[in-house]
Amino acid sequence: MDEFIKILDPDLDYISHEITGDTIVIRVASNKEEAVCPYCGSTSTTKHRVYERSFQDLPIMDLKTRIISYNRKMFCPNPECNHTTFAETFRLLKQKAKKQSASGKNS
Ligand SMILES: [Zn+2]
Repeated sequence: MDEFIKILDPDLDYISHEITGDTIVIRVASNKEEAVCPYCGSTSTTKHRVYERSFQDLPIMDLKTRIISYNRKMFCPNPECNHTTFAETFRLLKQKAKKQSASGKNS
């Protein structure tokens, strides 16, 4: 399962999964120590808090897939930056957000 997550996004680690009814729930977290502030480009290693995000993915073996990621909120170390905290982003989640907004127009 870790290999599957690495295909989706090499920055994510597989934590656990469980099957509830017709849905497979996969928990993942970032394996990076640091995150880059998207507003000023400073690298932060100071964690503010962790929150869960979940999204649907393509079915695996006839099971619906729900991925829960532990996203970190980081403190920006740059005093000049006008954002004190920023949310860590994953390539995978960005792609999903784009796909969802694109398909939303058609339905
Ligand atoms: Zn910043």
